[in-house]
Amino acid sequence: MKRSYGFLLTAMAFTLVTLVPVGDLPAQQATASSAALPFKWEELTAPNFIKAVELSGGTCIIPLGVIEKHGPHLPLGTDLIDVRAVVLRAAQTEYSIIFPEYYFSQIFEAKHQPGTIAYGERLIWDMLQNTCDEISRNGIKKIILVSGHGGNNSFLPFFCQAQLASRKDYAVYLFQPPNDPAFEAEVARMRKSKMEQHAGEGETSAILAVRPDLAHQEVATTQSGEDLKRLESMKGVYTGIWWYASFPNHYAGEGRYGSREIGEKELNHQAEQLVKVIREVKADKTVLELQKQFYDESAQPLKTRQ
Ligand SMILES: [Zn+2]
Repeated sequence: MKRSYGFLLTAMAFTLVTLVPVGDLPAQQATASSAALPFKWEELTAPNFIKAVELSGGTCIIPLGVIEKHGPHLPLGTDLIDVRAVVLRAAQTEYSIIFPEYYFSQIFEAKHQPGTIAYGERLIWDMLQNTCDEISRNGIKKIILVSGHGGNNSFLPFFCQAQLASRKDYAVYLFQPPNDPAFEAEVARMRKSKMEQHAGEGETSAILAVRPDLAHQEVATTQSGEDLKRLESMKGVYTGIWWYASFPNHYAGEGRYGSREIGEKELNHQAEQLVKVIREVKADKTVLELQKQFYDESAQPLKTRQ
């Protein structure tokens, strides 16, 4: 039986709001904030897009997800569903334009599981670069990547490094919130499972908060989310098969313990951290300035002061 679409309705209700001026916004943004504008790029009209660029301080967030198995009990699109919920919650406090649904992430390690869409490495790279180029061509010079998918943990920092390879007129910022030991200890006290890496208690909790109708906890124990430790004897190397060696079911944790309460707590905490980052990025003048200096020097390295 399907459960209610609680959060989805909430999220839809928030797509049109009157934004309250925020104290630390520049003056022109505070003026523009009296207008009601959708957050989602695809919901803006062309004339309103111009206002949204101004109101956002020239920022856009790309929430990145992927299509992959999430244990036997969660939907294939879990990461995108969760990350968009976080970004929507953050944008309600600090306006930024949210890029449409983006599924083009690194997920080769789940190719053996039904429903996975594992685009090639060149395609996911070009797609993201081209997307950033197009966002910039539309006057947005600060792009914030927010990934809901752990399989991007090598890809996205490398993508950011590669922005230095050739001149860009925009900056890419990857959301990487600092550890919050007090919050983590509080959640650890609430949790029942010891290990959580993929589709376990945490991710199940998040889906229970956002789309409870899509969480099927009654089948969460039909597959094992245990670490098989099949490469445990190899200590000093990295190999791409490491994840499959540990978790061939593409499941790491115990989804049966998920709770909506933990999900709400974690999503809200991430949203609060993202609000801070959106504000930092809006206020930032250093990154673009340093990039320009760097590209100028890179074009003529013999003239760089020694
Ligand atoms: Zn996930």
